[in-house]
Amino acid sequence: MAPCKTGWALALLVLLHALPALHASPAPRDTLVVGGDAGYAPFQMLDDDGQASGFDVELLRLLARDLGMDVRFELGGWDEALARLERHEVDVVPMFTSDRRGSRFLFTRPYLLRYHGVFGREGRPEVARLDALHPYTVAVQDHGRAWEALEQLEPGPGLVLVRTEPQALRAVAQGKADYALVPTGVGLHTINRERLRGLVPLGPPLLEQTYALAVRSDRPELAQALDEALVRVRDSGAQDRLYRHWLGQIGAAREPGNRLAWAWWLLPVALLGAGFAWMRHRRRPPDPSSASRLLVDLRLAIANGSLGYAVQPKQDLRTGLWTGGEMLVRWNHPERGPLAPGDFLPLAEFHGEMGALDLYMIRRAMEQLQAWPAMDPQPTLSVNIGANDLADRALVDRIIELTGDRGHALILEVTETDIMHAPDLVADALPRLRRHGIRISLDDFGTGHSSLTHLRRLAPEEIKIDRSFVTTALESSSDRAILRATIHLAHEVGAVVTAEGIEDEETLRWLREAGCDIAQGFGVCRPIPPEEFASMLRAQGSAPPDA
Ligand code: C2E
Ligand code: CA
Ligand code: CA
Repeated sequence: MAPCKTGWALALLVLLHALPALHASPAPRDTLVVGGDAGYAPFQMLDDDGQASGFDVELLRLLARDLGMDVRFELGGWDEALARLERHEVDVVPMFTSDRRGSRFLFTRPYLLRYHGVFGREGRPEVARLDALHPYTVAVQDHGRAWEALEQLEPGPGLVLVRTEPQALRAVAQGKADYALVPTGVGLHTINRERLRGLVPLGPPLLEQTYALAVRSDRPELAQALDEALVRVRDSGAQDRLYRHWLGQIGAAREPGNRLAWAWWLLPVALLGAGFAWMRHRRRPPDPSSASRLLVDLRLAIANGSLGYAVQPKQDLRTGLWTGGEMLVRWNHPERGPLAPGDFLPLAEFHGEMGALDLYMIRRAMEQLQAWPAMDPQPTLSVNIGANDLADRALVDRIIELTGDRGHALILEVTETDIMHAPDLVADALPRLRRHGIRISLDDFGTGHSSLTHLRRLAPEEIKIDRSFVTTALESSSDRAILRATIHLAHEVGAVVTAEGIEDEETLRWLREAGCDIAQGFGVCRPIPPEEFASMLRAQGSAPPDA
């Protein structure tokens, strides 16, 4: 028995060892040479023994292992790292993405969202926007991202230029500048490590930026392989663990009584970006309850891309074709297991996190759209968003930016009740969205109190009749009357009508006869994984017309 078992174990070991090489495009045991900054804690740095460490370093070790490659780190000065990547002396350097860099290097997908923060001495005025810095002096890394942003301000602040980001904080500590503008994670880490007492974050997360791997321009196959490995490492949960270890450590490393204690919770916010959440809740101390834990986990899941979603298909009631689908968030919590939207959305909403979640879902929708076949008419994806988002100009800008030239494939679902909290601000945002082809759907129609005036003013492209009217349609004549009237009204204002919550064939038939345009519900199709829906669209694309 024993030898046999050992034999199996050996075979398994050999197989496991060979596995990563199976999907590796570069030759096995190639060496991945990683460049970077030797002093960019906690992302890339040399520790006291001269060993490379940090979040980026550990992530690259995992990626190399996934690809069956060896890895060697050659960290040094930042300018040098960029120059060496350009000269093809190193293969990859983790960095912020930018258009300029995009023309010099190949980029993988982003793996972090990062922010800058304004740091200053405690008691100084808080600064909510960059342009409010102009009466002051601000220390920034020469030619860094913060420098780029401040340099073009008119009027701009007085700039104190330093070589590294930690030096910017030291300049403030030594009274050489009023504020420092540095990446939030770097700022908090430096303050803790160097015990720069009295320095605190004094503003919301600013300058949202994606962070990715830049690959030397002559190795597209390596960029592709790293990109695919990033997905596997993220999906395995390993990236999440690294994130907790390296970026959570800023909080963990804090001392009791340290003035910074209250600020550590800003970090996850800073890594995801709900600037307005900070505005609203900046005075709220960290709450050790499990709800607060869940909120932190949610921020992490958004930051590391592990928050999932299902797509519920929508069907054209005349042609039977899929017109698109609705994105529904799904969270498989690492400890609690699958959570329904109702288990965490109210919490997110209460803490002002909906903007971050909604942007995340829009980003995922854009990814998904790319995986679809080209079809005419173009199927759409609907994303649920809060009316607060539409009332926030900066967020609307972000939505427009994220959708690029694919706005025509995006429908934003906003509930009627939600809109009623800020109808004017929402109405103001609509023309801007529409200029980019983005459509609006009035969700849960019939449950709110929107007046006909509002309906005319918002002129939604779609009205979604709430499922409370639909599920009971066959039993209740008054529900049927409401359905008929709503369909009529919607058509009068030029909207497409979708009935949601259709659970059976009879209701479907009745709605078709009543003139409803689109059907959605368990009886049509349950929410399914996005890949499954993409193959349904592919099958439909190749089917003869009117099938
Ligand atoms: P909703 O926008 O009205 O989404 C439809 C909900 O009805 C989904 O529940 C869906 O699974 C469920 N549903 C669909 N067909 C049927 C049916 O035939 N019968 C019944 N009983 N239910 C049906 P889910 O996924 O639990 O979402 C609940 C709500 O959570 C959504 O209601 C929406 O308000 C919110 N939500 C879900 N995903 C997101 C998201 O990504 N972002 C935001 N902001 N909100 C979301
Ligand atoms: Ca919806
Ligand atoms: Ca709904």
